[in-house]
Amino acid sequence: MNKNISNEIITILEEIIPNPVCELDYNNPFELLIATILSQQTKDKRVNEVTKILFSKYPNPESLMNAQIDEVEKIIAPVGLGKMKSKNIIMASKDLYYKYNSIVPSNLDDLMLLSGVGRKTASVVLAEAFKIPAVPVDTHVLRVSNRLGYAKSDNPLVVEEALKKYIPKDKWILSHHLFIHFGRYKCLSKNPMCSECKLKEYCKEKNKNL
Ligand code: SF4
Repeated sequence: MNKNISNEIITILEEIIPNPVCELDYNNPFELLIATILSQQTKDKRVNEVTKILFSKYPNPESLMNAQIDEVEKIIAPVGLGKMKSKNIIMASKDLYYKYNSIVPSNLDDLMLLSGVGRKTASVVLAEAFKIPAVPVDTHVLRVSNRLGYAKSDNPLVVEEALKKYIPKDKWILSHHLFIHFGRYKCLSKNPMCSECKLKEYCKEKNKNL
């Protein structure tokens, strides 16, 4: 990989995916934070179905931290891992209320201290809610980055560093969306659409998947 090749890849992705956006529904940083915690290991569409109900009952950290855990678990059941996720979002709300005056922090370190928030979730909130350059590496970004030759690693941090090295900072957020969309709809984990792929010439796995 080098910066020129990376630029070519990003340009092609911009042509294939003209207007990539976050697929989670949210109205403010609090809702995005909770939705992103809930989105771990499930589809964004499913998260949007439950957050519609969740946020109508618990619209802010104070209301959510005082919610009955059983009630929250029931609402978020469709996204899976209900016990763990309900505990995490209630605890994160408590942290926000007591430590941050109910305001979602806009820096990585503070975000990562919240319950249920790892580096990827914190980076999504930074990039999406605050438009602070960040490169969240989820399963799609990890897979696509490996296939396109940015890195050869299962470690999200290694992949994040590689992406940051080759992609200009002002394109980090855009590239994150492009990679997610490309991974979600074209460069699928199983049966990627290689025969019609415009990035074939850059791909390290095309022969495996064609
Ligand atoms: S050729 Fe296939 S595996 Fe490679 S980037 Fe394109 S869709 Fe993904």
